[in-house]
Amino acid sequence: MSDIFWCNNCKVPLLKKECGICHDDGQRVASDIRPVFPEEKRLLEVLLEYEEGYFRDKSVWDTNSNYLLIDGVTVALNKGKLMKLDPGEIRLKLKRCSVPDDELIEFEDNVDKFVRCNQNSLNESEIEAFDIIKEARMGRDKHISMVSFSGGKDSTVVSDLVRRAYANQSVLHIFGDTTLELPDTQEYVARFKKFHNKTPFLESRSHHNFRDLCEQIGPPSRVMRWCCTIFKTGPISQTFDGISRTKSILTYYGIRKSESNQRANYKAITQSPKVTKQTVVSPIINWIDANIWLYILSRKLDFNDAYRYGFSRVGCWACPSNSLWAFFLTRIYFPEFSEPWREFLIEVAVTMGKPDPEEYVDSGNWKARQGGQGLTTAYKGLVTSKPCGDDPDAKTYTLTKPISEELYEYFKPFGDVAIGRGRSLLGEVFILNKHTQEPLLVIQGRTGTSELRVKVVSSKNTILLMHRVDCQIRKYQSCVLCSGCSSVCPLGAISDKAGRYTINQEKCVNCLKCVAHFDTGCLVSKVLQTRRS
Ligand code: SF4
Ligand code: SF4
Ligand SMILES: [Zn+2]
Repeated sequence: MSDIFWCNNCKVPLLKKECGICHDDGQRVASDIRPVFPEEKRLLEVLLEYEEGYFRDKSVWDTNSNYLLIDGVTVALNKGKLMKLDPGEIRLKLKRCSVPDDELIEFEDNVDKFVRCNQNSLNESEIEAFDIIKEARMGRDKHISMVSFSGGKDSTVVSDLVRRAYANQSVLHIFGDTTLELPDTQEYVARFKKFHNKTPFLESRSHHNFRDLCEQIGPPSRVMRWCCTIFKTGPISQTFDGISRTKSILTYYGIRKSESNQRANYKAITQSPKVTKQTVVSPIINWIDANIWLYILSRKLDFNDAYRYGFSRVGCWACPSNSLWAFFLTRIYFPEFSEPWREFLIEVAVTMGKPDPEEYVDSGNWKARQGGQGLTTAYKGLVTSKPCGDDPDAKTYTLTKPISEELYEYFKPFGDVAIGRGRSLLGEVFILNKHTQEPLLVIQGRTGTSELRVKVVSSKNTILLMHRVDCQIRKYQSCVLCSGCSSVCPLGAISDKAGRYTINQEKCVNCLKCVAHFDTGCLVSKVLQTRRS
């Protein structure tokens, strides 16, 4: 738990008890803070029905909870009540408010004082970050260095720290455009690229349409954040894999322990569990929000404007992990996509038979949705099979999708698919051990029919192999080419580029990593699985 103090003489928050200017001890006021910019002050004035300019001369900070720190006094903010207000009306009122230039100058003066009072904390956190970067680079001079850039405040800081530590602007940056970025993020990224034109900048982007996938597999929820794999980690790791196949890489992230309990045990330098040749470095792992803002404001760095308007985090606007407050802000500032999204969520709630669909959406209950409730596609992932007579090593599947050539691709992780080896009239195909060319599996089912017989010919563990076959059948039935599988394969053997799922048999080493990565075999089928099924 960190501590933030208030200096009563200098009227600014302190990251250490002793003030760097007057040397008096401050009073503990919070565990973390972020500045409330003049633009957010206007919003608060409108929401709280104060006259315009009420907060103008006040030093206002957000404590990352339901409290504001106003001139050193903690004041509760009833967000639940404020969120009942009509976002459209707030938007109209805000249009009539403005931030005068002299207020911006006063704000800058206050920021300068905040920086001077906290110079020691700033120096310490910088030294710690530079030490981490130095240690990471030791013995890794042949690695390609890159910054994972999200357009948020943390990666803004990491980018600046890394370029300073390397004394070089040309450290590669990679930005994963999730296609669900706030317009402010896109504008900031464009400014960043223009201003840092000596910094190489790679962008990865999923070719999927978020809304189309939502129609098929339902909106993401907190337990089923399928969108992360498809729109963020998938495209980024494909880009990383492409680079790491030839070189080892050192990737700098803005990961911080204070962001979540899950991250509390993270280390500053680790080997990536997925991309074997990637070392992950988190120079600001121990920083809290106050350190981040102190750094950005002291270095006068450009940053994402969404923070000025009151967003404490910037990420995808549709993310089920966003707070209700963030959702409310999105409705005020970006109705062009938040309103159609809300309407879609209400439609899903209606299909699910929710008694009060609007309440279900506005209260955030939609984020707890599980499985494929309310979706006709839910049944597709179901795998139905029965044992074959008295042969304990064989099963007959009744598929939800008729047999086609495409089915054989999903058997390639087990071995070489030998179509000509079996009796073609019966639709028999052999799967051979890559090294010995001995049969492992025999599958049998005629094109266009739904009955598929799978027999294990040779395996030390028939039950496990059958489970794996289930996973691949599930993939065949539910695949919407989400790119999840291709981002899992360490050898880049899986592709969906030609509009169909293909595995390059030459590249595949039968490591089976792709088979059960998403528990049931397929991310989409996992998402669609209802509790009952
Ligand atoms: S089979 Fe793989 S690529 Fe296809 S939808 Fe499932 S997880 Fe995505
Ligand atoms: S992860 Fe790649 S190499 Fe491994 S079995 Fe799957 S396709 Fe083959
Ligand atoms: Zn002071």
